[in-house]
Amino acid sequence: MTPALNGSTSTANGHTNGANGVHPAKKGSLDGFGTRAIHAGSEANEETGAVIPPISLSTTYKQNGVGVHKGFEYSRSGNPNRNAFETTLAALESGGAHALAFASGSATTATVLQSLGPDAHIISVNDVYGGTFRYMRRVASENQGLETTFVDLENADDDTIRAAFRPNTKLIWIESPTNPTLRLIDIPRIVALARAAPSDPLVLVDNTFLSPFYASPLLQGADIVMHSLTKYVNGHSDVVMGALILPAHRAAFADKLRFLQNAIGAVPSAYDCWLAQRGAKTLHLRMKAHGTNALAVARALQRSPHVQEVIYPGLTSHPRNDLAYRSLAPHARAFVDRYVQEHGDEALGFPYGGMISFRIRGGAREAEKFLTATRLFTLAESLGGVESLAELPAQMTHGSIPAEERALLGIGDNLVRLSVGVEEEEDLVADVEQALEAAAALSATSA
Ligand SMILES: *Cc1c(COP(=O)(O)O)cnc(C)c1O
Repeated sequence: MTPALNGSTSTANGHTNGANGVHPAKKGSLDGFGTRAIHAGSEANEETGAVIPPISLSTTYKQNGVGVHKGFEYSRSGNPNRNAFETTLAALESGGAHALAFASGSATTATVLQSLGPDAHIISVNDVYGGTFRYMRRVASENQGLETTFVDLENADDDTIRAAFRPNTKLIWIESPTNPTLRLIDIPRIVALARAAPSDPLVLVDNTFLSPFYASPLLQGADIVMHSLTKYVNGHSDVVMGALILPAHRAAFADKLRFLQNAIGAVPSAYDCWLAQRGAKTLHLRMKAHGTNALAVARALQRSPHVQEVIYPGLTSHPRNDLAYRSLAPHARAFVDRYVQEHGDEALGFPYGGMISFRIRGGAREAEKFLTATRLFTLAESLGGVESLAELPAQMTHGSIPAEERALLGIGDNLVRLSVGVEEEEDLVADVEQALEAAAALSATSA
């Protein structure tokens, strides 16, 4: 429903998300996750009855008198498709009330960091997404004097983390699981440390890898959730977009971010919003399938004599498997508990997103052979789409990290990252098994 049809007043930028009166997100918040994914922000069109909202391509909106309009003036400031999708996002990210959509995950990151102003300090998880690292180190540092301390937020003890805080520390940047070694950060622990810090920094969680289905960082005390919607939320590898979601009590900060979103113009197109909203309607179905498929593939990798180590936080063998379970979103926990009940101990774990990393026996040659021998896993960067992808972080997504730093982070030449899609489980397992055999045959002939 558009703000105009909702009868609420427009703000400076024509946006009324989460404002007064009955709001679709509020109505939807009583429903379960999958119901919200399909209905929140997706009301039938009042004028035509169209069940699916039309794509509103107009850049400008007629005013009946100067300043008298239906909530929209100019499409950068507010657009029916973007507003509708932002309502969906606020309803999907549990604990969220305000959502903002951006032209990419990277534009989202840039906007948040710009909001901190000049000469701020932030603390970031040390193996943060490469583009985020680049923005912190090469853009924000030069343009606004932002200083970043990178900390191993998984293993550092409380004193070490406390020592990183400064009087001007304004933000803590968390990603969990990290990429590509899937280390888990204990979000409530970091939130507690932040709350005790004199500068009262905000805690942001980049929730891209788990999506709003598996994790609800806002319910764990985080102040802001960020997503590259390009990945799971859109889910079909055909839209580049990002988002921020904030809880109700962060309304003032949400307003500031919305001002910047409009001023910077880092906005997505109406068409992309429409596509991503369509993608998000099946998020719950896809995430369950990504999770069960990934667990099956992780088990197959674990069984294989050609694999040195499998990293999947849902496996009981993962060092933080307990934390993975504790950190599940409420709706994901219900799904996981049912899965474990049905599959018992031979499940060897539980579904926890679709990302797996593993170290193949051998080195770069075996890894490359594996990557070109798969039939269904496509050799490509990115993740989170319905189709399975595989890549070599050391030379692809993480190739710009200096070799010594890569070694410290555990990103060796034999580390393969899989984005497990939603194809049939047996087909994916068979594909991984035959590609492992092909890689092993290569080392046998060359030995
Ligand atoms: C892809 C990604 C980003 C950047 O998002 P874009 O949409 O590519 O700009 C940020 N964080 C994580 C974890 C990502 O995977």
